[in-house]
Amino acid sequence: MNKHNFGLSFEFFPPKTNEQKVILLDTQARLRKLNPDFFSVTFGAGGSTITATAETVLELKTHDTPKVIPHLSCMGGTPDEIQTLLQQYLDHGITDILALRGDVPSGMGSVGYFRYANELIEFIHEKYPDTFHVTVGCYPEVHPETESFESEIKYFKQKVDAGVDRAITQFFFNPEAYFNFLDHCEKAGIDTPITPGIMPITNFANIKRFCGFCGTDMPRWLQYKLQSFGDDRKSIQQFGTDFTIRLCEQLLEQGVPGIHFYTLNRAKATLDVVKALS
Ligand code: FAD
Repeated sequence: MNKHNFGLSFEFFPPKTNEQKVILLDTQARLRKLNPDFFSVTFGAGGSTITATAETVLELKTHDTPKVIPHLSCMGGTPDEIQTLLQQYLDHGITDILALRGDVPSGMGSVGYFRYANELIEFIHEKYPDTFHVTVGCYPEVHPETESFESEIKYFKQKVDAGVDRAITQFFFNPEAYFNFLDHCEKAGIDTPITPGIMPITNFANIKRFCGFCGTDMPRWLQYKLQSFGDDRKSIQQFGTDFTIRLCEQLLEQGVPGIHFYTLNRAKATLDVVKALS
């Protein structure tokens, strides 16, 4: 636990250029000072290469703290290739994995060898019994491919039953959606801690695009408000930060296991939010 009295973690993506690498190293150095529980590094998202995750994880790990959790998706290749990657992490003392199905790249009809995250989790525990702590993703507003809310809970439970220590939600703007999801999980017998994933609003076009493919509901009033700022980026950022602070306050008031920030490799918005919550 950090001095803010709530769990904190930050997600990064592997940089693709030297310029992006410099930004990430600066970002992680600034966020490290908040004493987070862990950093996590995405896998294959946005077209990044498979080796890029491990490289970024090992680079971040050259500092003592915090723990760094690699994401690993079913797009990681054949079972042998996935096992090689797991072994590489183990050899570096990494025993936490964020296991996902991953997003199917456009044009690819099917996913990898494993179809769903629960199959990947079973594989991890089968090859390395009692070794890895597994984190998974979950979707209070329902994953775009899931046919119903009931199925969302059913498949989430299947994943949890495969052996999971923690879940992190897709980003959302409606705290009610998160708490409603928690209620249904509890009724289904899911007792894994479910940490809200929060994406600070810094850019209207980007966040609207992310909402589109993640299935996150952006309330109409919020859309109109952000739209009303036009190209005034400073006002969008100010409003976005205030909105995110209020959202986190509502979550913390009702008790959440922690907050996971989707940083997009930038420090300022997340720093402003966390400092306001302290
Ligand atoms: P799953 O839990 O496997 O679910 C995928 C879909 O299949 C859902 O619609 C589910 O309802 C359905 N389903 C599950 N099991 C079954 C079953 N047995 N039968 C029928 N249907 C089933 N993407 C990346 O590419 N890289 C990342 O690093 C990354 N990090 C993420 C981190 C977090 C915290 C979150 C929430 C998401 C992340 N994503 C990432 C996005 C994620 O990969 C996509 O949302 C993906 O489409 C679903 O992955 P999943 O592991 O949640 O899938």
